[in-house]
Formats: sequence, C-alpha cells, structure tokens
Amino acid sequence: MEIVSLLPQLTAFRFSQVNDLNVYVWNDGGVLTLIDTGLPGSADEIEKGLGSLGFTREQVRRVILTHAHDDHIGSAADLAEWGAEIWAHHADADIVRGDRPQPAPVLREWELPIAEALELGPSPRPAPVHRELRSGEVLEFGGGAEVLAVPGHTAGSLALHLPQHRVLFTGDTLANVRGLTMPGVFNLDSAAVEAAARRLAELDVDVVCVGHGSELTGAALRAWQGRE
Ligand SMILES: [Zn+2]
Ligand SMILES: [Zn+2]
Repeated sequence: MEIVSLLPQLTAFRFSQVNDLNVYVWNDGGVLTLIDTGLPGSADEIEKGLGSLGFTREQVRRVILTHAHDDHIGSAADLAEWGAEIWAHHADADIVRGDRPQPAPVLREWELPIAEALELGPSPRPAPVHRELRSGEVLEFGGGAEVLAVPGHTAGSLALHLPQHRVLFTGDTLANVRGLTMPGVFNLDSAAVEAAARRLAELDVDVVCVGHGSELTGAALRAWQGRE
C-alpha cells in the first residue's frame, strides 16, 4: 500500500495489487472520514497507514462507501468494529448488509476477457449501514460534502463534492490508471456511467479523487473537463 499525500487534510492509501484502488482519509481536526475500505483483509494495512500519519483507528468517525463492490466495501465490517459509522447510498445499502447479492455487471464485448482473467477473492463480511444516503444531502465533513447520486456502475454509486475545498470523489464512475482517464468498467449500465462522468466533469474543482488510479489535477484535470 502506497501512502499519497494530496492536501493537508487529504491522504490516499493506494493498493497497487487492486488496480491502484484508493482508500481516502479526510482529516477534520483529528476527526477522520474514510472513503471506501479496500478488499476484505485490508483493515490491518489501513490501521498501519493511519499510524504512520499519527492517527489511531479510534479517530475514524465514519466511512463513506462509494458503492457496494468488494474492493470498496471489503473491510467495512472491520472498520465498523473499530467504532466507525458506515454510510452508503440507499440503493446499495442492502448489498453492504449482506441482504442481497451483488448483481452481475452487464459486460461489454471488450470487457469479457478482462472479467474472465479476474481471480475472485473471499467475499466481504456483511457490514452494518448506520446511515443511508440520498442525492443532494450535505454531509458534515470537509466543510460540507454534497452527495451526488451517479447510478450506473452500481445502482447506489455516489460521488462526493466538497465545494469549500474544491475536491471531488468519483468512486468507480471514473478511473485514472496508468495515465488513462476513463469512465468505470464492469457496470450495470455503461451508458449511464458515461453520462454521469460527463456531468461530474462540469463541476468546478481542483482535485478529482478516483476509485482507481492517480488523482486528477492541473492539465490532466482540465483535459478531462474539456477546458484545455
Ligand atoms: Zn466498482
Ligand atoms: Zn473498484
């Protein structure tokens, strides 16, 4: 796991073995909000990462899940046991709780060989969802974080917009792996994901934090926004 400092309040824990999956840590004066949790079995590494930043796991107040795929919700049950609240969009909450299986993605032709090559690991343990989120809600971290529903990758996919800090978290609606910026793959509705990514590109922000890959800033960000 690589530790990437993005802003004074924001750090990414990046898991290269999971296609550069990011777990984000937002710090409001020692009160921590995590975005996503990695695959099952990531909690120890997350705890070590927090330690290297000078934090303890007890400081994690809440975890916001961008969507209910294994690589994002995998360690939510462990983090709930640390005492963190788990927040997820209403439409994915029952999957996080283990009450409904993840629906299979609707793969495009070119995604089939990639999907076939994937090795499935252990399933996430069911986790509690303490708060179900809906579009337009403003959450009490980062100076106010607006929930933007972006159904498509999953039914309950969400993005988070922090206008005060000019930061956007996209979840898997956008990826930026090895310099390639593109809408997410393995979607329920790929046309909806592409439309959602275009909507997100219209937001006036300085840092875009994707589910997988490097943050988008500067010229790369403006190119994605079509503002070059
Ligand atoms: Zn996903
Ligand atoms: Zn993912």
